[in-house]
Amino acid sequence: MNIIAVGAHLDDIELACGGTLAKAVKGGHRVKMLVMSDSSGVNFKGETIRTKEEALKEGKTASKAIGVRPLEILDFPNKDIPYNSRSVEAIDKVMSEFDPDIVFTHWPFDTHQDHRNTSLATISAARKRENVLLYEPFAPSGRSYIPFRPQVYIDIADTIKDKIRAIKEHKSQYEFYGKDWTEAIQGRARMRGFECNSQYAEVFECLRLKLDTLPLL
Ligand SMILES: [Zn+2]
Repeated sequence: MNIIAVGAHLDDIELACGGTLAKAVKGGHRVKMLVMSDSSGVNFKGETIRTKEEALKEGKTASKAIGVRPLEILDFPNKDIPYNSRSVEAIDKVMSEFDPDIVFTHWPFDTHQDHRNTSLATISAARKRENVLLYEPFAPSGRSYIPFRPQVYIDIADTIKDKIRAIKEHKSQYEFYGKDWTEAIQGRARMRGFECNSQYAEVFECLRLKLDTLPLL
């Protein structure tokens, strides 16, 4: 199968479905990561959050940690990724070349405007795709005005280590958030695993799912 994950920033995909993608790679599937922005930028105080060089270097090392190649990065501006014909068509172009069987993207009620717009643009671009699953958001952007509904669980007991290693490769973010960040991610995966009688799991909302597809993962 061909599997694509579309994220707004370098680190979103690993955080949300890094274990699932690592599992798919090990299972012999073709996996691609598509990131909408180079993820560089400054905050409202003018402080640098992440330089472009730093984000690209970390993003490439992290995608390798979960075994995913290629990683494609589009040139939409960090913090201002649009939901319009330009973003929909950019994703559509990548999808028509890669022809994915499964599409993963952000949950559209995420409170980060980039995550939300990436989700909407991907959902539009994936209108003819059979399987579209939406990531569980991670705090603080996951603190939305409606609750996320855990619907589709994927066992990642065999790849949780790869996921955590990939997240730690985002060194600038790891230094910023500290080890509480990875401990919280691992703790949540453990909780999701407990909910589905496994050790670790990632979970998704389902936009569309052809039932005979996912068991192959
Ligand atoms: Zn993000």
